[in-house]
Amino acid sequence: MPLPDITRRIAAAAEKAGRPVEEITLIAVSKVQPLERVRAVLDAGHRCFGENKVQEASGKWPDLQAEYGPVDLHLIGPLQSNKTRAAMQLADAIHTLDRPKLARTMARIAQEEGRCPDLFVQVNTGAEPQKSGVLPDETDSFIKEAREMDLPLRGLMCIPPADEDPGPHFTHLARIAERNGLTGLSMGMSGDFETAIALGATHVRVGSAIFGERVPS
Ligand SMILES: *Cc1c(COP(=O)(O)O)cnc(C)c1O
Repeated sequence: MPLPDITRRIAAAAEKAGRPVEEITLIAVSKVQPLERVRAVLDAGHRCFGENKVQEASGKWPDLQAEYGPVDLHLIGPLQSNKTRAAMQLADAIHTLDRPKLARTMARIAQEEGRCPDLFVQVNTGAEPQKSGVLPDETDSFIKEAREMDLPLRGLMCIPPADEDPGPHFTHLARIAERNGLTGLSMGMSGDFETAIALGATHVRVGSAIFGERVPS
């Protein structure tokens, strides 16, 4: 679906929810997409992208940014500790702060580098054993801990269980954010971004609806 159609659907969902559309950032998730599809979205003027692997992102975006100018780059995939520095150097935001050890590593690197991307704490709202993220019950104390490390927390992120209605998960995430004074809500993908916007999303992560199905490389 062309980018303008997605932008229109976002605007319509925001209006229906009585929210200013400026509150909502569209992260175009370009992971695994052929370069010509990414270029088409850049050519259309979009400048905010998401990737889920540090290695793939650093192989692609420095060159594209040299050509097109700066883009706002969001890392949305699970982050291995040994990739933390590279991730922090590359990204404007990281959506997957999901464990105390990673928080400590980020705090140390932020000190050393003198900068830190905006951070979202990933919450495993479905408490799925195979999925990363802080458990809902542990999120308040995790946020407190990360704040004590002076990490720049921007908000929370979730990926609801694939086989469930996402609505209750988005609502739950919004409630945890609100009671912790966090305003960013990274939630909603191709299949459910309108629902997420109705429930307060500030960052929607949309891949296949913009670029088409991901072609395995
Ligand atoms: C791939 C991915 C997306 C985008 O998924 P689509 O269904 O293609 O929109 C969003 N969030 C995360 C964390 C992803 O890994």
